[in-house]
Amino acid sequence: MKLFVTGGAGYIGSHAVKAFGRAGHDIVVYDNLSTGHEGAVLYGKLVRGDLSDVEFLLKTLDKFRPDAVIHFAASIQVEESVRKPLLYYRNNVVNAVNLLEAMLKTGVRYLIYSSTAAVYGMPKKIPVNETAAINPINPYGASKAAVEQILSDTTKTTDLRYNSLRYFNVAGADTDGQLGQAYADATHLVTRAMKTALGLTSKLAIYGTDYQTPDGTCIRDYIHVNDLVDAHIKALNHLMKTNESNVLNCGYGHGFSVREVVNVAKKVTGIDFPVAETGRRAGDAPVLVADSKKLKNITGWKPQHDDLEFILKTAWEWEKKLHSQDIFKEKK
Ligand code: UDP
Repeated sequence: MKLFVTGGAGYIGSHAVKAFGRAGHDIVVYDNLSTGHEGAVLYGKLVRGDLSDVEFLLKTLDKFRPDAVIHFAASIQVEESVRKPLLYYRNNVVNAVNLLEAMLKTGVRYLIYSSTAAVYGMPKKIPVNETAAINPINPYGASKAAVEQILSDTTKTTDLRYNSLRYFNVAGADTDGQLGQAYADATHLVTRAMKTALGLTSKLAIYGTDYQTPDGTCIRDYIHVNDLVDAHIKALNHLMKTNESNVLNCGYGHGFSVREVVNVAKKVTGIDFPVAETGRRAGDAPVLVADSKKLKNITGWKPQHDDLEFILKTAWEWEKKLHSQDIFKEKK
């Protein structure tokens, strides 16, 4: 199969490209390398391009004529989205529209879309399933929800069909040690904990201890990146077999508080790194835990790494490698 992967040089995208590449698919990665790395693209061909460059996007898509598009490229930081909403609407919504228009013009029918648990805002019922109200509390979640609406509307008048995968908290790294998260400014809890353990930052901030949760810190459902990638593979197969558009939650169904993650990170690294309790971070929901029954039932997805300690171990191995070797240090 021919797959066009936007954001394939980024964290989740690069793991997906490896999995699809190993399965023998023909891949073109379209990435502007704003946060991704050339060296992270282990399979297929990397085309350095921006989704805002409508002409180049169309030309690239037209030349390759893929069977499906997997759209990872996006801005993903909740707090940044609160400060820079227009950046998020441009990168996530306008660019997605550019991609959809290019797909329709070149006759590409299938899309796997990277959505987020942030579309739910503060869900009333935990674990949250796909029928819960869409009520984002930050521009990041709102930008992803807007594209889901656009996708749903587009299927009504075209033959485009999609699966929107609502990611919960993706963490961990490739079990072969070839890939992992490598952002210049990592904001995610797991990566920051690892960097603090390595001494790259002086202390790990815990953002808020006054939430309505048992220990006062936010609770998240951490899913290993390879399990998430497998959800993409299963979802694409199901989509192409059934022609059915679907929205699917991706998580394990149980959550850990920030304090619990910090404790496991200290255990896994063997380092009692400094932690500072600070105020809340803008845009954070207290609890986000997935009900992923639909994903399991319709696609046959079975998680392999539902183990926080294992997830953090893979993140730790990767982080040590990233900072001890000249990996992904290519010039931009
Ligand atoms: N968090 C924290 N310190 C950090 C980074 C994150 O306390 O340095 C908290 C954050 O407030 C949230 C949880 O960890 O409650 C997960 O945040 P992350 O940025 O990893 O993912 P998000 O849930 O925003 O997608």
